Amino acid sequence: MNRLPTITSAQHLIDAVDALHGKPRDRKLAERYGSTIDAIRQRLIGTPDNPGALRRELAHGTNTPDGYPRSTMSNGPHGTAELTPAEAAAHARHRPPHDQHRQLTLRATHALDQMVASLNTLMSALASIDDLRNDNLGPAPKVCAACRPVRDIIATVYATGTVGGRLDKPADLCKDCYEFVRRAGRMPTHTEVADHERRGRWRIRSTPAQ
Ligand SMILES: [Zn+2]
Repeated sequence: MNRLPTITSAQHLIDAVDALHGKPRDRKLAERYGSTIDAIRQRLIGTPDNPGALRRELAHGTNTPDGYPRSTMSNGPHGTAELTPAEAAAHARHRPPHDQHRQLTLRATHALDQMVASLNTLMSALASIDDLRNDNLGPAPKVCAACRPVRDIIATVYATGTVGGRLDKPADLCKDCYEFVRRAGRMPTHTEVADHERRGRWRIRSTPAQ
């Protein structure tokens, strides 16, 4: 696919996947199954008591007629009645018995396989897009530990450390907060940062303003 779909058509596709968990659209199926995915599970696999297509196929073996109505078996358009034994043998070689139940079960399991493969491709492509974007954005910028929750404009980090042992643990600090810690010997409270934000300078007291 070289052309991007519209948002609407991509949304429809996602809705179609989402509908697997909803009631089947088909009224006859909706009466019997709670969801489309349940209708798929029951009819494809089922239970030993109520086998689905695959369970029936596996129970009947591989190449033998599987007990389904003759109408699902065919030896070709004319049958084999008018053929000589040699012709019939050649015919059988070229046209092995055609078992519709088996072929449809194969088609269904193949489609299921493709569905899961497609889902994996989709998720892996989206994960790669995430990686691509994260690489381009780089690591998240560091922000000042003291004033980030308070200031409107996030201050860039001026220094990371304990400010000459004044803090117990190293912290990322903007220039203003670094200056506060250097003078007060502790981190500013949110009230003090808000006050600094209004006045443009620190009011440093011996006991922190809460
Ligand atoms: Zn700060």
